[in-house]
Formats: sequence, structure tokens, C-alpha cells
Amino acid sequence: MQVTEQAIRDVVEQVLARIELPSPPEAAKGPCGCTLSPSGQCTCSDSAYVGRYGLFTDVDEAVAAATDAFEQLSQRPIEDRKRIISHIRRISIDQSVELGTMEMEETQIGRLEHKIEKLKTLGEQTPGVEFLSSQVYSGDHGLAVIEHAPFGVIGAITPVTHSLPTITGNAVSMIAGGNTLVVNPHPSGRRVAAEGVRRFNQAIYEDLGIDNLICVITEPTLESADAIFHHRGVKLICVTGGPAVARAALNSGKRAIVAGPGNPPVVIDETADLERAAKAIIQGASYDNNLLCIAEKEVFVVADVFDAMLDAMQRAGAVRLNASEVDALTSVAMTTVGEGQHLHQVPSKDLLGKDASVLAAAIGKQVPESTELLFGETDEENPFVSVEQMMPFLPFVRCRDASEAIAKAQHYEHGYRHTAIIHSNDVRNMTQMGRVMDTTLFVKNGPCMSSLGLGGEGYLSFSIATPTGEGVTTPLSFTRERRCSLIDDLCILGK
Ligand code: NAD
Repeated sequence: MQVTEQAIRDVVEQVLARIELPSPPEAAKGPCGCTLSPSGQCTCSDSAYVGRYGLFTDVDEAVAAATDAFEQLSQRPIEDRKRIISHIRRISIDQSVELGTMEMEETQIGRLEHKIEKLKTLGEQTPGVEFLSSQVYSGDHGLAVIEHAPFGVIGAITPVTHSLPTITGNAVSMIAGGNTLVVNPHPSGRRVAAEGVRRFNQAIYEDLGIDNLICVITEPTLESADAIFHHRGVKLICVTGGPAVARAALNSGKRAIVAGPGNPPVVIDETADLERAAKAIIQGASYDNNLLCIAEKEVFVVADVFDAMLDAMQRAGAVRLNASEVDALTSVAMTTVGEGQHLHQVPSKDLLGKDASVLAAAIGKQVPESTELLFGETDEENPFVSVEQMMPFLPFVRCRDASEAIAKAQHYEHGYRHTAIIHSNDVRNMTQMGRVMDTTLFVKNGPCMSSLGLGGEGYLSFSIATPTGEGVTTPLSFTRERRCSLIDDLCILGK
């Protein structure tokens, strides 16, 4: 046989085919879960910084770093807190498009323009150190000054619905109060959380030389949340989320500020300005596809104006579903979970936070992509009334009169004492509803977000502490009162 190049190639191929080659080793994973490069380096931006700029895989290490950062911050003047916060604000505002897009791509829920707007608005409007005014009592016995001191390291748990925005708002408020924080973000929003935190810390470090003021667990789990809840170095916890995490925080044995779930009802009485009400409801309920905890979730309308109100909703641009379409949507949008007496319905993951046009498509209905909200008449048994749906469909329930509407609103708010809304020009109905609901936020004649200073008076936060009572959190929520008394002197009023 003539030895040609082709003959050699054939023999080599036959030999190789007979040899059982070991399968390639399982690609090694970095501490952040990404695939390591052949030289063992992490390939994502987070992991390159683990242990720096606030990125940690281990709770003990994160708390140690945040404690060290707290000690450094405690040596600095309040003016430095302002500078630190100015970096968080600047990044949140200037990089809102990039970070908002990252959040949208990672979480796949909500609306891009609102992801961007939330970062910008929180950067601009979250109250800072100016909120920390001291109180003074002076009199015959001298002078007492009450100042607001930090707790130390705060453990924060944040939701998927606003991953980086919640961290931005918490970081501004908590650092304004002189604290540092360790965040366990929702796993489905962990990457944007880590990227935002890295950017904040890097800018702060480069300007002021303190790293790790805001630490984030890059691979968050329920175990890491639990480790934060029970860590001796964590002096206070602040959770923003649904019923399970609210319960876990309240049972943790640690002082907790709990921004829990809501199911905000809306009441419309016969005196309401229906056109204005329809616009407000669409604005609030469709914002970020109904992901806000304060968003309008179910509407109780008195019979006298029920049909007129539904017409007003259509005129304002919402798309009405008929009874069979509502039934079809209910069956695809709600899922039953739990067992025995704990059986209950939750929003289906496939439709949570999706666009109104996607909800419509799920029942074979075509609506323009620009549709902000779907709505329809339901009875009160429909799960859209009792479940915090977090998707842009609103159920409207017909009620005999304002008293019945208010009673149903109270029932379906589930005692969360979170948010309630009324559209009315009758002060008695407004007063009755305010008293009965006993909610942290009560809005009259506006969209839900007007209660956070967005189109109404007051200030902004995305952590609204409901069961623990701090309300719309501010830097003061994250401070301890300290009183300093000088006896008999420094009151200059004379005796
Ligand atoms: P979620 O409860 O599923 O998760 C919130 C956070 O808690 C996540 O980081 C999650 O990993 C963690 N978590 C969940 N169960 C836990 C447990 N048993 N122990 C420890 N950690 C746990 O909520 P979500 O879907 O991310 O966010 C939506 C919910 O948050 C809604 O109920 C909404 O009303 C509420 N929310 C409230 C406010 C407020 O200010 N009150 C603000 C935003 C969202």
C-alpha cells in the first residue's frame, strides 16, 4: 500500500473512533455561578470583584466588611454621607437606561420605560441627610438635644419587582442615617442588584476611600436570608416583599422593619369624577404592569355609576374583556398552590408582570401592543379580586352603595393595612373609608403613586413599612433616638 497523506488521515480517524475519549470535565463554576475560564477566572463582571465593591458570596464575610465600613463611616462628618449619597443618586439617574434595561432583561417582568423611570425617580427624590433634624427642649432645667444615631449594619431583603430600585432607595435612606447594609436580593434580580451595588461602591471608594458600604450577596438563597436574619453583627433588618418573607422577618427575633404585601382596593361612589377616576386608575394600575405593591388591584363601584364608569375606562384607553374572556383569562392567569386547608391561588409565573397585550394573546384576543390595561366586570369570588395579581387586568365589582363598596374593600385588603384608594367628592364617604380601612396609605382622587409624592405631596420610598408601622420609610426610620441632657445650663432665657 502506498503511504499517502490521505491514507495516514484515514488510519488516524479509525484509531480515534475506537478510543473512548473521556468526556470533557464539567465546566467549573465561579462563586457567582458563572462558568470559569480555562485559567480559573470568573467570566462575569460580578465575580471579578468578589470581596470588593460590595460583592460577597458569604454572609459572614459580607457582614464583616459592612461592619468595617460602618466603623469608617462613623469617623466621617455628615457632609461625607451627603457625598456618598450623591454618587448613588448620580449613578441611579445617569445610568438609569443601562441599569433599567439590565433589570428588564434579567427579570422579564414589568415595562422597560418604568424600570428606567423608577431608578431615575428614586435617585432624584429619596430623602437624604436633610431629613435628620434634631429636636431640642430647653427650660428651667437646662437643655436636652435629641439626635438620630445609626443602628450599624442593616440586613435588607429586596423583591424581584424592583430589584435595584429598592436597593437604591434603601441605600440612600440607610446611609443617610449613618448605617451600612447587607442585601439579600431576590434570586431572579440578583445580577442587576450586584451590578448596581458594584457601581455605587466603586464610585464611593474612588472618591472617599471607603469600600463595602452596601454589600450584596451575589448568590442569594433562603439560607443566606436566614443567615442575615440571625447574624449577631446585623442590628436591624428591613424586608420588602410578600407574605412569606414578612412572616419570616417578624419571627426572626430581631428588630425588623417590614414592608409587606398589599392588595389595594379602589372604591368609586356616585359623586366621583368618573373621567378623572378612569385616568388615575389606568395610570396607577398599569404602571410597570401592576407590579407596584401600592397599585390598584380591584375596584368596587356603586351600582348607580357602574356602567358609566366602565364606559369611562374604555374612553380613557383601557380594553374591556367580556364575561367569557374574563373567565378564560382567570383560568390561565391564576394557579392553585398549597395543600389541604392551605390551598390558595397565586398569579401564574408566565403572566405575572407581562404586558396587557400578552395577557390578551394568552386568551386568543388581539389588542394593540400599546394597550396599558385590561379590565372587566367580575363578581367578588373571582380570584383577581382577592389575589395580588401583579398583572395589568383589573376586576370591577358592582356594589349596592358606598357602604357595601367600602365593606368589600376592607374585606379584600386582607387586613394588610397597606394602601386603599377612593374616588369621591363626598367627604363622609372619604372619611368612612379612611377610618374603616386603617391603611398606611389612603389616596383620594388620584393614582396610587400620588401617595408617594409622585403627583401628590410627601416624600418617596419603595419600602413602605406596613405591619411594623414605620410607613413610607425615610432616613429617620433607620435611626435610634439618643438624648443628650445638660442640667441647669445653656438655657439662656433667664430665670
Ligand atoms: P417575594 O416575597 O417572593 O420575595 C421578596 C424577597 O423575600 C426576595 O428577596 C425573596 O428571595 C425573599 N424571600 C421570600 N420568602 C422568604 C423567606 N421565607 N425567608 C427569607 N426570604 C424570603 O416577593 P416578590 O415577588 O419579590 O415581590 C412582590 C411582593 O413584595 C408583593 O407581595 C408586594 O406587595 C411586596 N412589596 C411590598 C412593598 C412595600 O413597600 N410594602 C414594596 C415592594 C413589594
